[in-house]
Amino acid sequence: MTFSKTHSSAVRHARDMLAFINASPSPWHAVSTMVECLQEDSFTELLETDTWALQAHARHFVIRGGSLIAFICGGESPAESGYRIAGAHTDSPGLRLKPLAAHVSEGMLRLGVEVYGGPILATFTDRDLGLAGRVQKRSEKGIETQLINISRPVVRLPNLAIHMNREVNEQGLKLNRQTELNVLFSGQDPLSADAFKSFIASELNCAPEDMLAMDVLVRDTQEGAIWGAREEYVSSGQLDNLASCHSIIQALLKVDEPRHTVVGAFFDHEEVGSESSVGASGSFVSDILARIGEGLFVHGTDALRARARSTFMSLDMAHAFNPNFPAASEPNHRLRINGGPAIKFNASQRYATDSESAARVMRWCEAAEVPFQQYVHRSDLACGSTIGPMVSARLGMPTVDVGAPMWAMHSLRESAGVLDSWWLTKVLDQVFEGR
Ligand code: ZN
Repeated sequence: MTFSKTHSSAVRHARDMLAFINASPSPWHAVSTMVECLQEDSFTELLETDTWALQAHARHFVIRGGSLIAFICGGESPAESGYRIAGAHTDSPGLRLKPLAAHVSEGMLRLGVEVYGGPILATFTDRDLGLAGRVQKRSEKGIETQLINISRPVVRLPNLAIHMNREVNEQGLKLNRQTELNVLFSGQDPLSADAFKSFIASELNCAPEDMLAMDVLVRDTQEGAIWGAREEYVSSGQLDNLASCHSIIQALLKVDEPRHTVVGAFFDHEEVGSESSVGASGSFVSDILARIGEGLFVHGTDALRARARSTFMSLDMAHAFNPNFPAASEPNHRLRINGGPAIKFNASQRYATDSESAARVMRWCEAAEVPFQQYVHRSDLACGSTIGPMVSARLGMPTVDVGAPMWAMHSLRESAGVLDSWWLTKVLDQVFEGR
């Protein structure tokens, strides 16, 4: 079995991945974690407000909010060898604080939240929850953004006792989004909305009146774990899709003086449809490709030739077969955890794969000696989507949707296999530098 042969490298990879995810409780933290990895490997930042001077083999990254694009200029002009792009998303579904979140009632200070994307809400109950995000502060320069990460338990969503909700095991836990998701923050005086603002200000070492606005989400405080009798599995929040971001970054760091121009694209807002200035459906990716092209003297028709020679691999997690719920999977397309990355198909183009792009990935998997699986959702269930179809439509590039199989997508505590993400980095080596 391949498992023992690659297991120790895969476990090392999994530990690194869990540390990466633990350091990235929000999209803005994910960007910051990726920047740290990239800067250690001599990537430098370019600002969209500046003019750029590029040269062959230059390593750069560009940030737009919770999104980031990193690239290494190829030895050949993109007009001759195209772009090799891999992309993933930086956001995860969950609970986001409302602008005026704090409110006092019944002797308790609670925080109102909005639901971001499609989390499994019941998994947020009875867990030790922290807060993370970014705060906009007054500063001498005008406005300064500061990240905030409270990784100790400071808020909670207590469940109702079974004696008060007798049907919970028959009907499931249903939570009203307006009235039953307010997270409990404090029962201690002073009980006022200002107490929460003062708390955040003290975490940031600033005066409460200097805080203008914030994007703060509820995070799990439990770190990721490797589990199973033989360390086969990982569990963590945000495996969807930070496991994919981590695989792409790992592969990117290995690339040295490539022939093709190599790009890693990481987008916020996938879980809410990607329609934003930083999302995959926005202008970010086409703007940056246009500027890389200009910087490498690829103009006009040559810019279109470059795109026509390019490939985009969209990485997002896939739904593994769950033996307790066999009917949930399409019988001929059951994904096995640790069975290899899945190539995802959907006739309605919820995934961008077609037979041409799939065949190419199959060749890359063969070259990397990595097993692969093929996924299609049950025909009588609505299929999710990824950034693949959007980027594919925007750039007009052949695109494939690929991902590591996982259980409990959008739970606060998801799980997956140690081998699949490790294998994905090997396939990405081929995407970036293979034929
Ligand atoms: Zn996803």
